[in-house]
Amino acid sequence: MSFWKEEVELMERSQLESLQLDRLRRTLVQAQKAPHYRRVFQEKRLTPDSIRSLADLADWPFTTKEDLRSGPPEDFLAVPQDQVVRLHVSSGTTGTPTAIYHTQSDLKGWADLVARCLCMVGVTPADVFQNMVGYGLFTGGLGLHYGAELLGATVIPAGTGNSRRQINLMKQFKTTVIHIIPSYALTLIEKMAEARVDPHRDLHLRIAVVGAEPHSEGARRRIEEAYGLLAANCYGLSEMNGPGVAFECPYQTGLHLWEDHYILEIVDPKTLEPLPPGQVGEVVLTTLCREAMPLIRYRTRDLAMIMPEPCPCGRTHRRLSRIQGRTDDMLILKGVNIFPMQIERVLMDLPEAGSNYLIFLDKDGPLDVMTIQVEMGPPLLDQGPDEIPRAAARIAQHLRDEILISPRVQLVEPGTLPASEGKAVRVLDRRGTGLD
Ligand code: ADP
Ligand code: ZN
Repeated sequence: MSFWKEEVELMERSQLESLQLDRLRRTLVQAQKAPHYRRVFQEKRLTPDSIRSLADLADWPFTTKEDLRSGPPEDFLAVPQDQVVRLHVSSGTTGTPTAIYHTQSDLKGWADLVARCLCMVGVTPADVFQNMVGYGLFTGGLGLHYGAELLGATVIPAGTGNSRRQINLMKQFKTTVIHIIPSYALTLIEKMAEARVDPHRDLHLRIAVVGAEPHSEGARRRIEEAYGLLAANCYGLSEMNGPGVAFECPYQTGLHLWEDHYILEIVDPKTLEPLPPGQVGEVVLTTLCREAMPLIRYRTRDLAMIMPEPCPCGRTHRRLSRIQGRTDDMLILKGVNIFPMQIERVLMDLPEAGSNYLIFLDKDGPLDVMTIQVEMGPPLLDQGPDEIPRAAARIAQHLRDEILISPRVQLVEPGTLPASEGKAVRVLDRRGTGLD
């Protein structure tokens, strides 16, 4: 087992918590320099020196995405502009993108955390690291790039797209580690087959860092089997730096969230009351080391739980479960709440279902109708046409058991559905648009 900062990764809980308290006080002092927090803290008559224990954080207000969007971005800036060295913008998956500022020290801390994650999963300076995600405003590209360089790996800044070129780079430079968005990793499996490249025989891959979008355990297994590697789940969000907030160790039993850099809370998204380990709720994070833009009790809208048992690797930083979706991903159909991830979980466990799928929501008169187009999985490709409707009915039945409503399932030829290179769009809601 390799450690990047052993003394921090194995730090006793009591010591870790006193480090958090110390850093929390400093963070609140720093946050007060930003106009938004200065205003809010004054209104609520809160002063950083009133914090006596970590539990006192519960008296402080949450920060929401709407807060970030409600005024000019500088409202959250806690340092003079001349100390800012980089600006990132979140992908805007769910609305207006938000701006995130970084100082030199922020970037250093972020790269160090990413290096810690990579080291934990077994990446070494001898590895060739092909970074196959977007460079630019999206934090995935530069975030992993600098972390992998700091670790000492040989970094290929491949960026997204051009699958043939990506495969050629892997072959030519004997790439051993890839950073890739899971939906693209699934699409690339087919591209490899078209290029007659067998990853087990022709490539040298041993680790994939996958993240940036929700994906199921079944999707991970498909990636691991197809490429013959270990796929480690990487979680992060621009508001907290970007990737590297939480990451899986080789035991793959949840993602260690680096508690020397963040305070983790899980709350009920409706009542905002805290939830115990083992119960799924909204992930709320407080930065402990960010200088340019500290965020207090930031509501991520991501749904996950804290894994109750300790991890066999010995790290004391608590683990988050796989992200189950976002609060704003929830679909309401015929009065039933459905998360797209429930649908993916079912599909990825059925070999007849391929790896690319798209969920359509339409109106049929007053009724909501869900249609799921799924590319056919390998076992169906050698079967006669009679088998296709039977397989569609079987898939629909499995889905019904999980989501309690009956979707229409249409099996389509592999390669028919749009393949994204960035975060996949899995749901097209055409209710009320007149597009159906
Ligand atoms: P946006 O919120 O606009 O997509 P970001 O690029 O900052 O902006 O993406 C962060 C979000 O991506 C997270 O809040 C989460 O919803 C999702 N995400 C990141 N990593 C993972 C992961 N490993 N599993 C599931 N979702 C993830
Ligand atoms: Zn572990």
